[in-house]
This record gives sequence, structure tokens and C-alpha cells, in this order.
Amino acid sequence: MTSQNIRQQFLDYFKSKQHQIVPSAPIVLKDDPTLMFSNSGMTQFKDYFLGYKTPSSPRIADTQKCLRVSGKHNDLDDVGRDTYHHTMFEMLGNWSFGDYFKKEAIDFAWELLTEVYKIPKENLYVTVFEGDKNENLGRDQEAFDYWKKHISEDRIINGNKKDNFWEMGESGPCGPCSEIHIDIRSDEEKAKVSGLDLVNNDHPQVVEVWNLVFMEFNRKADGSLEKLPNKHVDTGMGFERLCMALQGKTSNYDTDVFTPLISKVEELSGQKYTGILEDEKDIAIRVLVDHIRAVSFAIADGQLPSNTGAGYVIRRILRRAISYSYRFLNMKEAFLFELVAVLKNEMGDFFPELIKQEKLITEVIKEEENSFLKTIETGLLRLDHIITETIFKNEKILPGNQVFELYDTFGFPADLSRIIAEEKGLSIDEKAFDEEMLNQKTRSKKSSAQKVYDWEILDESPQEFVGYDESETETSINRFRKIE
Ligand code: ATP
Ligand code: MG
Ligand code: MG
Ligand code: MG
Repeated sequence: MTSQNIRQQFLDYFKSKQHQIVPSAPIVLKDDPTLMFSNSGMTQFKDYFLGYKTPSSPRIADTQKCLRVSGKHNDLDDVGRDTYHHTMFEMLGNWSFGDYFKKEAIDFAWELLTEVYKIPKENLYVTVFEGDKNENLGRDQEAFDYWKKHISEDRIINGNKKDNFWEMGESGPCGPCSEIHIDIRSDEEKAKVSGLDLVNNDHPQVVEVWNLVFMEFNRKADGSLEKLPNKHVDTGMGFERLCMALQGKTSNYDTDVFTPLISKVEELSGQKYTGILEDEKDIAIRVLVDHIRAVSFAIADGQLPSNTGAGYVIRRILRRAISYSYRFLNMKEAFLFELVAVLKNEMGDFFPELIKQEKLITEVIKEEENSFLKTIETGLLRLDHIITETIFKNEKILPGNQVFELYDTFGFPADLSRIIAEEKGLSIDEKAFDEEMLNQKTRSKKSSAQKVYDWEILDESPQEFVGYDESETETSINRFRKIE
């Protein structure tokens, strides 16, 4: 089953259950002061839950482009190091706005997974909220009783507030949730350790796939909970994880969501992806094929890399990919931009913004790559100078302020300085480095009031790429002008 079919079957199933199918909202949020990116399917429906707006249908389903790289949900450090967390991923979701509640949500999820997708029931586990004294909330008995109709009691696990009480942010709609986990281990592995012990334990093959949130509360700014005027359902299923389970793979990166991108990286770099978890080259390849999706979708939705706000996050993701390919794949020239065409071929049918913005995405990434590779080359020369001076003084620790300057003023990654220093048997004065970082943060907090608003809406008129200014600090936005 291809990923395209899997996505379509999800939407078709919920259409047959009277859900209106809507497109994904942009991955970059424009009007929400509490959030930079869509980090779950419900983000675009927040106002429906709060009762500020009325939805076009009480039942909706879609796939939402999500990005979890900042704020409360930040998975960046896991990406590439595990096989099932991405920066950008698709969250399949179905919603009830004051319509059906726990019973139907549970019945739909079970029927879709076991009868439409035909996942063996013995590979599934579910969790329910165990309650929380501080919040004055008991166990979610209602959800437990509905699950009992489908699955034996010993496969229903109590979950704590961290895993089984969903909150969008510091404030906003929230409620208990029930999560479905899939055990994709071999029979041999299953015989050794029960899947029950591995749920919510970061096991790469006993993974959480679907979260069913029962929205009953609103968290107020003072931290207290109030009942929402109507009860709602908000579900989110990790599309790439579902594809892994249905395609009989043990890593998201082995599904057809990622393999065309990986093949292109292999072709361009001359390296082979072997899927090993700890292998630096394999980590780098996973990072690249992950990050290129995040950056491409963000640009397609109007967020160019820049030096502030959401644009800075996108620039850092791209630079992270460039650093990994420079260090571990030995790629010294721009090449990531060539992955955009592959992504467009694979996903453009469903996400036409990739087709529409292909040229822009490709050019922005190429220019960012060239500029950052130049930064790396210049940085290496400066670092070499710092190292020579240190050795000349018969010292073994590089001055933290100089390494910080390299990072702060020249954009040279501190990690790279660390690695190169270590290769020469040297270290960095981390304390001094951290102090500089703290000072810088205080400075930038003070000046944040003057930050420019860097959102840009891409309209129908084509854009011409006019090249980079010499200065590294120039924001990308200034490098584009509309063709009149
Ligand atoms: P996890 O515990 O695996 O980090 P989560 O509990 O943070 O997931 P939810 O907020 O419940 O995730 O999101 C709903 C679903 O989205 C999850 O069940 C999972 O399938 C998927 N998902 C969450 N984060 C990621 C990610 N970084 N990459 C890919 N899929 C994800
Ligand atoms: Mg998580
Ligand atoms: Mg979880
Ligand atoms: Mg979850």
C-alpha cells in the first residue's frame, strides 16, 4: 500500500462517516501570538473549540502539515537519532465539534485500524488517562469502558498526565486522551518482552500512532481549568508512523515517504544509506531528508529563512542539515536544493503548493546553502587561527569568547568548533562561552521590541530571485522583489 493510498483511505473512511474533508492549514501560523508553527491538527480549529467561531461542519477530517521544532513541542534533538520523530510530519485527524464524543471516536479509530487497514488486533495497545489529584480529576472510566468492547482489559494501560492529558499550549482547550500504540516487533522479540512494558517507553518498534483527545476543558491564563461550553473530539495520527506499520517496515525512513529522497541523497553524495541507528552518516541522511521537508513546506507556505522569528527557525533547520551533510557526508557544495524536485514529484499531487512554489523553494535553498557553505569555509579559517594561537601559547583550551564570536557574528556552528577542537586534542572554555550566550540573550530580549515582522504572504504574482546581498545579516525577505 503506497503512502498516497494510506492517506486517501483515511480521508475516504471519515468522509463515509459524514466528515467534511478540508485542506491542511499552512504550516506557518500568521495570526497566533502563542505559536509560530502548526504543531498539531487542531491548531487551525482552536477558535471552534473555544466557541469563538462556528465550523462549516460539526465533523471534519484532514491531514495537517505539522512542525515540532520550538516551544512546548520540540522534537528537533530526536530527529535523525530515532526512526519515528520528524520535524515536519503529517497529522491525520478527525474532529467532532460538539457532535459525537468518546464512544464514536473510539469506534471509528478501531474500525479504521483493524478493518480498513487490517492491522492485527494483537499488535495494538491503548492507554487511558489515570487521573490527577492536583487537577482534581479521576480516571477516564468512560473511555476505559468503551475500549473494553474492542480490546481485552489487560491491553488498556493507565497513562499519566504527561502522556494522557493533552494541552495545546500554556493555555487553551485541553482534555484527557486515549492513545493507540502499535507493536511492530518480530514474534521472537514479542515473546521475550511483553509490549505492555514497552508502551510509552521510547521503544522504536512499540510506537504511539494515534492520539484521541476528548476536549472537555479550557485552561485559563491563571492555570485553572474550566469546562468548555460543548464537548469535542480532536484526534491526531502520525501519518509516517502509520505508513511504517502498514508497509511492514521498522523505520519511518524505510517507507515510500522517505525512500525516494534517500535514493537521491545517495545518488548525489555517492554514499549508501544502511539504516543503522548510531551511524553518523545514516543519522546525517535521516536529518537531511527530514529537514528538507520542513524547510520546503515552510517556504511554500510563505515563510522564508531570515534572521528573526519563524524565519530564523527555518534558517537554523536548513543550516543544521547543511552542517550534517558537510561534516558526515563530506558535501562541500550546495546539493540539498536538488531534493526539492523529488519532494514535489512525491507529494505535489496532494500538496499543490509544492508545484506552485517549486522554483522559489529551490532557489532560496540553493542560495542559503551557498551562503552558509561560504560561512563555514570562512569560519574554518578563523577557527584555524584561534587554534594556532592557543597552541602557540602552549594552552589546551580555546577562549570561549572567541568561539562565541565565531558563532554569533559569523554564524559558524559552535558544535563544529567543538568537534574540530577535539580532533586537535583541545577543548573550549564552555563556561565563558555560556556566559557570552547569556549576555547575548539578555541583549536580544531588550531589543526584541524592535524586531521586524517577517511574515510574507505569497500571492499569485511570480517572484524574481534577485540574489543575495554581501552582508550575512541581511534578511532573505529583502532579497526578493515582486515582478510588477
Ligand atoms: P511522542 O510521544 O511519540 O513524541 P506525542 O505524544 O508527542 O508523540 P501527540 O501530540 O499525541 O504526539 O500527536 C499525535 C500523533 O502525532 C502521535 O500519536 C504521533 O503518531 C504523531 N507524532 C507526534 N510527534 C511526531 C513527530 N515529531 N514526528 C512524527 N510523528 C509525530
Ligand atoms: Mg512528543
Ligand atoms: Mg506521546
Ligand atoms: Mg501523544
